[in-house]
Amino acid sequence: MTSPTNHSANDSQRLDCIGIGLGPFNLSIAALADKVKTELSTRFLERKAYFSWHPGLLLSDAKMQTSFLKDLVTAVDPTSPYSFLNYLVTQRKFYPFCASGQSVISRLEFSDYLAWTAHQLPNAQFDCDVQNIEFHDDHFSVTTENETFTSQHLVIGTGMQPHVPDCIQGLVSDTCFHASELALRAPDLTGKRVAIIGGGQTGADIFQHSFDQHFGKPAHIEWITRRANIEQLDEGCFTDQYFMPDYVDQFYQLDSANKQKEVSHQKLASDGVTSDCLQNIYRSLYHDKYVLRNPSWWKISPHQTLISSRKQNGQYQLDIEHGLSKQRQTITADVVILCTGFNHDLPKCLESIKPQMHTDEHDRMALSSDYCLQWKGMGKNNIYIVNSGTDNHGIAEPQLSLAAWRAAKIINHLAQHKVYELSDNDNIIDWGDLSFKHEKHLAAVSSL
Ligand SMILES: Cc1cc2nc3c(=O)[nH]c(=O)nc-3n(C[C@H](O)[C@H](O)[C@H](O)COP(=O)(O)OP(=O)(O)OC[C@H]3O[C@@H](n4cnc5c(N)ncnc54)[C@H](O)[C@@H]3O)c2cc1C
Repeated sequence: MTSPTNHSANDSQRLDCIGIGLGPFNLSIAALADKVKTELSTRFLERKAYFSWHPGLLLSDAKMQTSFLKDLVTAVDPTSPYSFLNYLVTQRKFYPFCASGQSVISRLEFSDYLAWTAHQLPNAQFDCDVQNIEFHDDHFSVTTENETFTSQHLVIGTGMQPHVPDCIQGLVSDTCFHASELALRAPDLTGKRVAIIGGGQTGADIFQHSFDQHFGKPAHIEWITRRANIEQLDEGCFTDQYFMPDYVDQFYQLDSANKQKEVSHQKLASDGVTSDCLQNIYRSLYHDKYVLRNPSWWKISPHQTLISSRKQNGQYQLDIEHGLSKQRQTITADVVILCTGFNHDLPKCLESIKPQMHTDEHDRMALSSDYCLQWKGMGKNNIYIVNSGTDNHGIAEPQLSLAAWRAAKIINHLAQHKVYELSDNDNIIDWGDLSFKHEKHLAAVSSL
């Protein structure tokens, strides 16, 4: 490995590894790399001026989907100074926190913990928008607006990009926008007809926030989802087995068709709405309709897919189709909030590497079990990718549950020795040998 490098701003600097993006996933790697900073020089470049975690969705009442124990470090290094518990102690709120009896904390508090970590780390650098990455012989050149860095390896943690359906792309504006911008826009919904499109956790959070009148009292709220109902997150203890290292290791061995099948069975383990959130919404609706007997001012419409849209006389006309009856109708809205998820696109700064990548038959990037992108230079110059979608490592990939474990795995691979012990858990479920035996399969088919 190259020797550690100091932080003078303008020189070209050679590092062992540069991280692009500083969301929770690269932050976990940055925090765990701090322990081995004398042997592994790293720098994590973030385009924002300071740390923030999905700031447009940091609604005051939104809760985490995962335990605070699944923080940046605890699962692999509970004595790390960057644990959530150390945050509580140093912020002098450990005892009040315990007394609150919370099992699920607010996103605001988790975000504050992440920022507390990010701004202590010597290897985090803000205001650095990585615009281009080039590969030369044995190193990468990483260019931001003001600096060029040189590194042997990269770890890409640039997150996901908001998904806007084609049928409404042309209407995106101040009054028709992706949910990821909501809190930053802080729209005044007073007296407006509001359409919320999408039935996952974000749709639920925004429905509740609008219903609770945090942005003024809307005249009407319609919450549309193509799902068959408002569906609960599957949080069962057996479901939790999918978010454990041994399952991810086993899942990785599957062939791509079986991987897809497994992930589609597991959809609600990551895309449902927490039971707490659903209970709160349901109780609010019950109180409004059956106790206060308010005239109807909200509607929840499952099985409805947005198929086309247009703007007429200053209002949005949204054509929706029922998934079962195929009946079509048009709803009218003044404000449309798109809770339509995120895409896992390759970041633009990696364009020059793209022709040298190995992709599968669906043009998807392939990663090794250690999260290295399979490309021409893999081995000597690795490009680790976190949060690349579910195709390679499965359902846990976009979640926080295994972020610390994955980060430790990447650090071990970078350092080429066991910095962190990743013992095999002896788990409740025996998944069997999931590796696809091509020869056995062929033998079985030919003997039919
Ligand atoms: C609202 C919301 C709530 C969630 N809650 C939970 C939860 O409770 N539990 C759970 O397990 N999962 C949750 N998730 C899923 C997941 O944990 C988060 O999406 C998480 O933020 C993913 O982290 P990340 O580091 O991959 O990406 P991000 O958090 O998106 O961070 C990526 C960073 O990269 C930076 N960046 C991008 N391009 C560049 C560039 N070219 N140069 C420099 N910087 C760049 C961006 O500015 C950004 O800061 C949630 C997701 C959302 C959207």
